[in-house]
Amino acid sequence: MSELIQQTAVVGPLQCNCTLLACGKTREAVLIDPGEEAPKILAMLQEQGVKVKYLLHTHAHFDHIAATGAVQAQAGGTVCLHRADNDLFRNLPLQGRLFGMQFGETPEVQKFLEHEEELEFGEQKLRVIHTPGHSPGSICFEVQGSDGRVFSGDTLFRQSVGRADLWGGDGRQLISSIRERLLTLDGDVPVFPGHGPKTTIGFEKTSNPFLL
Ligand SMILES: [Zn+2]
Ligand SMILES: [Zn+2]
Repeated sequence: MSELIQQTAVVGPLQCNCTLLACGKTREAVLIDPGEEAPKILAMLQEQGVKVKYLLHTHAHFDHIAATGAVQAQAGGTVCLHRADNDLFRNLPLQGRLFGMQFGETPEVQKFLEHEEELEFGEQKLRVIHTPGHSPGSICFEVQGSDGRVFSGDTLFRQSVGRADLWGGDGRQLISSIRERLLTLDGDVPVFPGHGPKTTIGFEKTSNPFLL
């Protein structure tokens, strides 16, 4: 198995973790949550010398999607999202107005992702885990092989969970998604949230106040 390249750019006023994952052998890559600051993200892609295959989104809140159009225009990549967040995705300008920010239109979603779907890039592979609650179409991405690391978007944070009071959010569903689809993974699996520092499944099981 080739080496997995991982680099994160922290972008926008809400400090979203935009993460690049690439196959060390073929340099084929996926980009998770191009939330803002397209120039910073494009510089990261160039620095790593990668070709973007998929533009992935853990969900469609503005802080995770606002640079998708600008990044795609320069770097290409197939725009991917869970279908249940498509309305949110298309309403980026409206989301901006409600938060006092100005955003243009998003590109069309080209590939709707399903629970358990696998995405290949070079010799690497991700599995999609649908974890509704923070938004209806919130998903996590699990690296297949190596340490099985997970990118949890705004579903699970270090010692916290995502808010459930935004469009289509559901607190009860959020907690069952985490319990049934994330906490069932191995304890030593590293977790990289959409904001803030990394953690592990085991640490959250024992010390996340929202899950005790
Ligand atoms: Zn969010
Ligand atoms: Zn967010």
